[in-house]
Amino acid sequence: MTVLGTAETFKRDWVDGFVTAYGREVRKVPDAYGVVTADAPRPGKVAVVIGGGCGHYPAFAGLVGHGLADGAVVGDVFTSPSAEQVHRTARAADGGAGVLFGYGNYQGDVLHFGLAARRLAAEGIDSRTILVTDDVASGPAEDPARRRGVAGDFFVFKVAGAAAERGDDLDGVHAAAVKANARTRTFGAAFGGCTLPGATEPLFTVADTDMELGLGIHGEPGVRTVGRLAATELADELVDGLLPELPNGDGRVAVLLNGLGRTKYEEMFVTYKRIHERLVAAGLDPVHIEVGEFVTSLDMAGVSLSAMVLDDELAELYAAPCSSPGYRSDGRPAAPVRSSVTVDDTLAPPQHAGESIVDRALTAALELIEENEDELGRLDAVAADGDHGLGMTRGMRAAVTAARTCENPAEQLLAAGTAFADAAGGASGALYGVLLAETGAGLRGEITVETLADAVDGAVRAFTALGKAEPGDKTMLDAIEPFRATLRATVRATGRGDAGSDIADAWRKAAQAATVAAQETADLLPGKGRAARLAERSKGHADPGATSFALLVTAVGDVLGGQN
Ligand code: ADP
Ligand code: MG
Repeated sequence: MTVLGTAETFKRDWVDGFVTAYGREVRKVPDAYGVVTADAPRPGKVAVVIGGGCGHYPAFAGLVGHGLADGAVVGDVFTSPSAEQVHRTARAADGGAGVLFGYGNYQGDVLHFGLAARRLAAEGIDSRTILVTDDVASGPAEDPARRRGVAGDFFVFKVAGAAAERGDDLDGVHAAAVKANARTRTFGAAFGGCTLPGATEPLFTVADTDMELGLGIHGEPGVRTVGRLAATELADELVDGLLPELPNGDGRVAVLLNGLGRTKYEEMFVTYKRIHERLVAAGLDPVHIEVGEFVTSLDMAGVSLSAMVLDDELAELYAAPCSSPGYRSDGRPAAPVRSSVTVDDTLAPPQHAGESIVDRALTAALELIEENEDELGRLDAVAADGDHGLGMTRGMRAAVTAARTCENPAEQLLAAGTAFADAAGGASGALYGVLLAETGAGLRGEITVETLADAVDGAVRAFTALGKAEPGDKTMLDAIEPFRATLRATVRATGRGDAGSDIADAWRKAAQAATVAAQETADLLPGKGRAARLAERSKGHADPGATSFALLVTAVGDVLGGQN
């Protein structure tokens, strides 16, 4: 958590902010840490009341809305709400048809919700309870009552909410929720602890090199510590942990890949890609899929995988429309989903690989860039966004692949430039794309030092017209311009130079000039590009683009000189 000094008032303030933001849908229960739908109570409808400690948003308050929960009781962070709070919230939600309580299986919640249920009964308000027990890591399969409720809460609440919304009576809503819980399983992994509001130290930590499988949503210890896994390996662990625990069904499942608070959606999608393949390979049919944050644990890094085995009733209830601040569904029926797999963009089969000088030069340049990828990233991170190394390798791989589909140097460089710009993205992607392509465009006919110098002149003109950098702005131009000028000077000194050795010598002299100039950019202050904003910071560090340019032309020079 980054909010400091709010431990005391945290719950009060976030609930106030929440009902202010979503006041059209939810309202606060007077004198209680609870929220109900704005139009509660809804007469004649079973009230679904959920809750638990906070720190799990959108669970639980964010799931209050039509078609979902009628009310949510809000405890302190990771702490059960009191019976008093549960009672007040249930009273505010009750529309005369009884209350279904739904919460995860934690002792404090069981005690307080249980007490509240007894008070309601004494007042003539009927209630039932569904304890969610989806976490397979927290107890043996033979004894599900010992298992905790984690992200599967969402499935169970969704089904109960839909049953209540369509008008089922209290026993009917309870039966649907019991069925949903019996058919829901979750298995999770965490790779970083969470920090309580106002605290400066995390509640628990996971070593940088480790991952905890089966860790609970309050940091309860996991079942196994493993080394840090890649996204696809993690997907395999999650699926392997979940599949043996799933009850039998007709194959249809609702799937939830839940983020615990600090894991990026894009990362979760990488993991989901593999999960989906595995589920389908196991004969399952994921008809509803959610990837996102549903039951979080403050800022814990990690994910959990849940599945609910559907039958016709659960499929219909899960698909029913609902609208809450944290989750909305338009009720559209599920359609079959096919996984989307993109072709790999690794190096293409080398049609003309190694045959041509351009291929050998680009390949050598790629290798040198790959060796220096981290360093380029580091330089770019000094005052900008740190992506230059990654962008350069991505771009050069695409350039090599594209050039291999063409035959003569001009076409190869044109194709390489277009592919580079497409794959690398960013400022340098566009600029290098132009340099490569325009060099190609200028290289029609016989290649001599003179035609090469002409082509480079043209490419640098196009480059400057696009980027508008001036010499001294601390950009790659500060390495490019000395390179161009040195090549041009050689032509003036020695003539057109049509022997291979002439070209190699001239190129390498120019590359040396570029290398020296790139190093000297350390003394400059950036005037263009992202780095310009934080100019002072980059003092003493060479410009990343100038550095990568020097590397590229050095590698090419080595090939021309026969050293590669
Ligand atoms: P981005 O800035 O989009 O993240 P990169 O990190 O890949 O792109 O490239 C940064 C490099 O691009 C800089 O170090 C600089 O050499 C070069 N650069 C950025 N803008 C310009 C420009 N307008 N003209 C010339 N070079 C530029
Ligand atoms: Mg960058």
